[in-house]
Amino acid sequence: MNYADFYRRSIDTPEQFWQDEAALIDWNVPCTKVLDYSHPPFAKWFVGGQTNLCHNAVDRWCAAQGERAALIAISTETNTERSYSFNELRTEVERCAAMMQSLGVGRGDRVLIYMPMIAEAAFTMLACARIGAIHSVVFGGFAANSLASRIDDAKPALIVSADAGSRNGKAIPYKYLLDEAITLSTAKPAKVLLVNRNLAPMEVVAGRDEDWASLRAANMDAHVPVTWLESNDPSYILYTSGTTGKPKGVQRDVGGYAVALASSMKYNFCGNAGETFFATSDIGWVVGHSYIVYGPLIAGMATIMYEGLPICPDAGIWWSIVEKYKVTRMFSAPTAIRVLRKQPPEFMRKYDLSSLRALYLAGEPLDETTSKWISEELGVPIIDNYWQTETGWPILSIAKGVEDLPTRLGSPGVAMYGYKVKLLNESTGEECGANEKGVVVIDGPLPPGCMQTVYGDDQRFVDTYWSTFDGQQVYSTFDWGVRDADGYYFILGRTDDVINVAGHRLGTREIEESISSHANVSEVAVVGVEDKLKGQVAVAFVIVKDATRTADDAGRAAQEREILGVVDHQLGAVARPSRVYFVPQLPKTRSGKLLRRSIQAICEGRNPGDLTAIEDPASLQQIQHALHGDAKK
Ligand code: AMP
Repeated sequence: MNYADFYRRSIDTPEQFWQDEAALIDWNVPCTKVLDYSHPPFAKWFVGGQTNLCHNAVDRWCAAQGERAALIAISTETNTERSYSFNELRTEVERCAAMMQSLGVGRGDRVLIYMPMIAEAAFTMLACARIGAIHSVVFGGFAANSLASRIDDAKPALIVSADAGSRNGKAIPYKYLLDEAITLSTAKPAKVLLVNRNLAPMEVVAGRDEDWASLRAANMDAHVPVTWLESNDPSYILYTSGTTGKPKGVQRDVGGYAVALASSMKYNFCGNAGETFFATSDIGWVVGHSYIVYGPLIAGMATIMYEGLPICPDAGIWWSIVEKYKVTRMFSAPTAIRVLRKQPPEFMRKYDLSSLRALYLAGEPLDETTSKWISEELGVPIIDNYWQTETGWPILSIAKGVEDLPTRLGSPGVAMYGYKVKLLNESTGEECGANEKGVVVIDGPLPPGCMQTVYGDDQRFVDTYWSTFDGQQVYSTFDWGVRDADGYYFILGRTDDVINVAGHRLGTREIEESISSHANVSEVAVVGVEDKLKGQVAVAFVIVKDATRTADDAGRAAQEREILGVVDHQLGAVARPSRVYFVPQLPKTRSGKLLRRSIQAICEGRNPGDLTAIEDPASLQQIQHALHGDAKK
């Protein structure tokens, strides 16, 4: 098939195109209207259609391949490995659904999942989907305050968690952070369901906390039929960082998401039923939702859930998994590959990787060195794909399942079917020509699978994403990009204050707010600075109230430790800046706006740019001095 024609059809006749794609999944009742775009930018896909994500991911496969592996949960932290067939997965999901129902959870209720990478987390997600409850998975690396703001926004009826996660053999207590988050929050959940892994002590709150194992034992024979949902009912909320301190709840539908995932599994990930997919992400991120849990299962594939580091017990661990489970398609992030590149290549060469057909990388820019190295080592195509929590599946890539177009180093690829991607000039709003830098935007309607709205806040959805350009309602990705004459895009970084650390998206505002809560902090600026391993790291510049405490090296080191401790405690280690520097003032415009880009440029050894509006040029030198360990000058 010719990709150009395929793409054109998706853009010119979207209703026909997506109607055909809808046949990839099961519907209890077919839709009456493929697309309702009568209230832009809100798009409704497959209106009137009734389906269910859990049915398509699990039950649908039980008849034809019930005994085949569906979920393989591997933990190198606890040295456990457990494979669930589609039949077994359905049984566990039904038990979990019954457990949740016994705790009062019903259709439309929110269930917050704060769990490590264990099979029970996937059971819970699928069980929510089964009964029409809306899950909100919060990444395990987030701490009390991050968690509390998500609890307050989603107002969950139930929180499902565990005693602890584990990292590099060390237990990371979850329950204790959860208790603190619930204390901080105003929307207290009625019930908390806890998996006890016996990794860390747990205090049980009587009347609120329930034990997973006991409740499961009481529901061993449970049968919970699938609840058929209207295609546009919400399936889940996933919070993501933006430019304000308040994370946005990205809300997704049921039918559109199922169809988009089924299509992307076919055209992008080329997955076939009976094969094995291995995405190394975490269920707390969008990749985990789309390509650990729902996507591969909807395609009838076995999916691997991995808890552990890529280099423990040694750097061969992922490749040993590929060999053992004959993984055909693997999905990871550039940072992980850069970590592996630092290890001796023998670890990779030890295993039979002949089952592997392609490696997909996403989440952050893929540099040429990393791409070339891994491609030579593995001898399979490396397929970059660019997307966002908001879109749920790739915006730019090469759809090898449609046509074997070549990839281009440094480019994630071309616009994916259904996405009307274009570049707009930031100041004029006019469309850019080839090789002209602009903001990557998408014309509405967004294709199936993309966010429906910001949970509970339609206006924020419109204001945040669709109002960047005066007089034009286009969806902004907030990424800079450029397109070559052949339609290949290159992503050039964010237009906003969102940074990307090891493929994890963080809002600098959130980190600044957390640092500001330290008693001795008067002002703070957090910027993302280029890093060879993680792509970017957060760096903080702080003005203290009492400068005597940062007068010498020992004082500065102590304050830095304290401030980092605050971030660890409130937001989690994932958001911890790599360094905190102390400065007497921060570069600002005369109107008081922080010149973050200039700070960032100085950190990266670049020219700070146009400084005509700066209030005091000396502030930039002070940043320089701080960076060079000369803070007193
Ligand atoms: P998230 O919503 O956490 O997935 O982050 C999305 C952001 O990550 C995008 O807006 C980009 O800035 C960046 N990103 C994701 N994938 C890629 C990629 N393949 N190449 C370059 N940047 C990427």
